[in-house]
Amino acid sequence: MPEPIRSLRDHLAITSDLRSAAAVLQWDQETQMPPGGVMGRATELATLTRLAHESFTSPRTGELLAAAERVAGTLDPESDDAALVRMTRRDYDRLTKLPPDFVAERAREASLSTEVWKAARKRNDFAAFQPSLQKMVDFARRTADYLGYTEHVYDALLDLYEPDMKASEVDAVFARLREVTVPFVQTIVTRGRTVDDTVLHEDYPEAQQGAFGLAVAQAFGYDLDRGRLDISAHPFASGFNAGDVRITTRYKRRDLSEAVFGIFHEAGHAMYEQGVAPELDRTPLARGASLGLHESQSRMWENIVGRSRPFWEHYLPLLRQHFPGQLRGVDVETFYRAVNRVEPSLIRTAADEVTYNLHIMLRFDLEKSLLEGRVKVADLPAAWAAKMKEYLGITPPNDADGVMQDIHWSSGSLGYFPTYSLGNVISVQLFEAARKAHPTIDEEIAHGRFATLLGWLRQNIHRHGRKFLPREILQRATGSALTLEPYLRYLQRKFGEIYGISTAGAPAAAE
Ligand code: ZN
Repeated sequence: MPEPIRSLRDHLAITSDLRSAAAVLQWDQETQMPPGGVMGRATELATLTRLAHESFTSPRTGELLAAAERVAGTLDPESDDAALVRMTRRDYDRLTKLPPDFVAERAREASLSTEVWKAARKRNDFAAFQPSLQKMVDFARRTADYLGYTEHVYDALLDLYEPDMKASEVDAVFARLREVTVPFVQTIVTRGRTVDDTVLHEDYPEAQQGAFGLAVAQAFGYDLDRGRLDISAHPFASGFNAGDVRITTRYKRRDLSEAVFGIFHEAGHAMYEQGVAPELDRTPLARGASLGLHESQSRMWENIVGRSRPFWEHYLPLLRQHFPGQLRGVDVETFYRAVNRVEPSLIRTAADEVTYNLHIMLRFDLEKSLLEGRVKVADLPAAWAAKMKEYLGITPPNDADGVMQDIHWSSGSLGYFPTYSLGNVISVQLFEAARKAHPTIDEEIAHGRFATLLGWLRQNIHRHGRKFLPREILQRATGSALTLEPYLRYLQRKFGEIYGISTAGAPAAAE
């Protein structure tokens, strides 16, 4: 390794360690910390966040980066070293635009605002949350102003989560997705056969749910020597380093899907982080390339694998060993349909595969309106209700299960939501590419074997970490750019069959 690259790497490891330490504190806040720790933790996180930001954006980083760039021309552009220089330049040019005071203040306020949101949501009191939310929207706007943008204010924020993606691209994908989904949901609701999911709502003790979920996650390939499962109010996966990538879940005793599919989902995120090449550890490249690619992994294991018929052919008998009474006499077909029941509903995280994206579009629309100033924070509950009616045909009975249901806005994470739907779209593209390379994948899933699929993901996605831009990784892995049509075909085929309807009524997805 050329000396200037080594110096840059050593220096960047400091930022990486500080960010990992902050992530441990955040994990602790969500899983272990007593309520009295809120104020102290907010300042601790603000300090670590400031130090990490100052270290990364320091003139020293600029000098080392410039020196590294002088030798980078002699490197193989595909090499780790060349990618490190490239991505560090990208990050550095962006993050140096954010003043350290601003970053620390934003982190502190976000930490406090999240606690305000938790309490306000419990009491269904939007008015109590409104001032905090206003602050977070202002922070998001100021962040966008510091970072700069050419087309739309939204682009500056989206780029933080989905590098190199523009709101106009999301608009185009969502317009087509909405055009197909809204009438498809209508057809399912009005003309589809009835799907009964009462089997999921028997009494399922939490301990067995966790044992089953974790056994499947391990079979997928989640390595528990480098991971663990805990309980939190809002499930997440968090990686601190190559040897420690954790997941959380929450249990509902009378809803089997919440924890079981939640664990599959978070394990998908965690396996991505566990699969990043160890040589990239302690560099800015040592994590997933974008939230969209991250979500493509979680949704693939949760839905394409975990909600498939072949999967349950193998796993229903094993689930029955955990719950013999609850699942007596339940056959695979009944269970498969139950876990794929489609119903317009209030809560995004509990939404089925078909209606899920409508929840995302609603949030994307509102975020753009907020940032453009077309909708005021005070008017958000009404705007939310109107969009719910338009997209899903239902009206939220209260704000707790409406505009206040997600944690994201409370921490100022505007620009984040579209990556969930992009992840859904990408998941099908990737799965089809993996299946094309290895036509035995479906057969293997039916026997509880996942090594071929995971191996393909490791080789084509995971190991790269952030070495390339998400669109480059997708192109390399599938041979094409982001494409919606495979996803539309997947939805129409799967749910058309479950609901016994032809999709002739809906605008057909091109073959
Ligand atoms: Zn996720």
